[in-house]
This record gives sequence, C-alpha cells and structure tokens, in this order.
Amino acid sequence: KTRVFSGIQPSGGLTLGNYLGALKRFAVAQDNGIETIYCIVDLHAITVWQDPATLRQATRELAAGFIASGVDPARSILFNQSQVSAHAELAWVFNCVARMGWLNRMTQFKDKAGKNRENASVGLFAYPNLMAADILTYHATHVPVGDDQKQHLELARDIAIKFNNDFGVNFFPVVEPVIEGVATRVMSLRDGGKKMSKSDPSDQSRINLTDDADAISQKIRKARTDADALPDTPEGLEGRAEARNLVNIYAALADKTVAEVLAEYGGQGFGAFKPALADLAVAKLTPISSEMTRLLQDVAEIDRILGEGADRAEAIARPILEQTYDIVGMVRSR
Ligand code: ATP
Ligand code: MG
Repeated sequence: KTRVFSGIQPSGGLTLGNYLGALKRFAVAQDNGIETIYCIVDLHAITVWQDPATLRQATRELAAGFIASGVDPARSILFNQSQVSAHAELAWVFNCVARMGWLNRMTQFKDKAGKNRENASVGLFAYPNLMAADILTYHATHVPVGDDQKQHLELARDIAIKFNNDFGVNFFPVVEPVIEGVATRVMSLRDGGKKMSKSDPSDQSRINLTDDADAISQKIRKARTDADALPDTPEGLEGRAEARNLVNIYAALADKTVAEVLAEYGGQGFGAFKPALADLAVAKLTPISSEMTRLLQDVAEIDRILGEGADRAEAIARPILEQTYDIVGMVRSR
C-alpha cells in the first residue's frame, strides 16, 4: 500500500524552492487516491533558534500554504509534528541506532552549523534521526522532497536496515529515495552555488510565496546571471549555474522540459527571458498567496485542522511506536 509522508519546517516563509521541490507535488499525490500525510515539522525548526511568537505564526502560515497549494485536509492528514509525540519518541530510539560517523557526513549539518560547529545545537546534529522517525513511524513508502534532502533519505534507509538487522526483524520498510522532476533543487538568485532557503538572511536570494507581483519581478530582474544569450539545447547550460537555474525554474513552473523552454528562448538574452519568467512566476504564485491571506483570517479554523490532523496521525503512528518499543525490549504495562 502506498503511503506518502513529507514535511516542511516552519522556519520562515515558504519559498519558490519549497513550492517546486515539495508543495507542488503534494496535491498531485493526493489526487491519485494515495494516502498522504503532510507534517509541519516544528520540532525540526527549533534545531536553530526560533522566536516563539514568530514560530507560532510561521506554523499557521505554513498550514495555510499547504492548503492554498491544494492539500485538502479532508483527503490528506495535515498536522504539526509536536502534537504527535511518537516522532520525538522514535527519534530517541534512532539516536541509539544511528552512528556518529553517519551523521558526521551530513552536508546539511555542515552548511547550517557553518564555521562555529562547537556552538551548533545537538538537535541540529541529530536532525536526520528525527527525520527518519517522521518517515518510519508511519511506515511511509514514498517521501517527496527536494534534492537537498536526498542524503537524509539515504540515512533513514540505513537506520531502517540497521534496526531490522540489530533486532532480527523485518519491521521498518526500506525506502528508496526517488527525487523526480526538474528544479527539485532551486538555487539562490544571488549565488548559483547555493540552494534557495527560507532561512537565508538575504531576502533577495529567494522568491517567497507571499511576495507581491512587484517584488517577484524585481527579484528576477536583479537575479545574478552571465551576459550570454540562452543556448538552444540543455547541454549549453553546462557550467552556467545561474542561467540553468532560471531555465529550470521556468520549466518547472510551466510544466515543460528544459529542452522545450530552450526551443522557445534559445538565442535570446536575459533581457527578454527574465520578464517572461517573472510573468509566469507571478501568474502561478499570486493565486496561492491570496488564498493564504484569506485562510489566515481564521486562525481558529487552522488550529482546529491541525489538531484534527494530529489525531488522525497519532492513530497511525502510536501502534507502530508501541511495536517498536516491544521489539526493543521495553516493558509496556499500562
Ligand atoms: P531551511 O532554510 O530552514 O532549511 P528550507 O527552505 O530548506 O528551509 P525545509 O523546510 O528545510 O525548507 O524543506 C522543506 C522541503 O522543501 C523539503 O522537501 C526540501 O527538500 C524542499 N526544498 C527546500 N529548499 C529547496 C530548494 N532550494 N529547491 C527544491 N526543494 C527545496
Ligand atoms: Mg532545509
């Protein structure tokens, strides 16, 4: 049976990267009659400092972002992670399964901790174990995420394999990472070597789902590029990270291939391409942001949806956690 799980951190406002790498695919899965579980991973967000009031606000905004992108809380389970304690509990078990050496190789920790690793939180280091728990406490079979999370998915797979081996069981499914589509890694508009992130200090580096038409156009106009015209074929984007990024974004937003986009724009300069990209981005994103604004007028309703989603998530996760405790050898007597 197919069960999709994916999460997004309430660590800031949603970006175009989150939309193309994750959100855009969430509603599609649900339309194929598959069981879909979507989580606002607030426990992950606090691996770096979050102001409490801002975190609460970001959680509700993210819930609105999910719904505005087409996630239907009646057909999908939509909830925030901290309301289902199985995530944190299973993460502890996995802290005792995963090896320091495995986590030492995680590039996201290196990127986020930066030079001052001694001062990073222990939670930031253990982040992938919590992510493995998110996935495995539902026995999820599919995890649609952006390309930046591929290494963490592989770690979740390694944890499942080691747990099964250590205890001589065939309990946790071993999920192969599948990362589909163009623009599953959207890059920063200021630096083609860095991924677009909601937590990037530079607002110019990203397009926020809540940016208005002027802001979107202005950011695309100012996006870093080289001075050459666009090539006629995808091979011509080799070594041109910034140009490739803008073409990838166009292709993903238009549901076209890169080759199709270049068949249309090859030979043209950014003076022509950037306005076309801006128009497309505005057309795709502004309906989502106005729907978010509308939904956020009723915070009580959003909180109700998250609570109800948490009840439904708990009903799946709790029995799997109880079985895990049993396998590990914990006495359960109440
Ligand atoms: P943060 O900077 O706080 O880590 P983020 O923008 O990376 O925020 P996450 O909540 O960590 O967002 O990730 C949510 C989902 O969005 C994941 O599936 C992730 O792979 C995807 N994602 C994040 N950034 C990008 C990107 N630049 N391109 C494609 N997908 C992305
Ligand atoms: Mg991230």
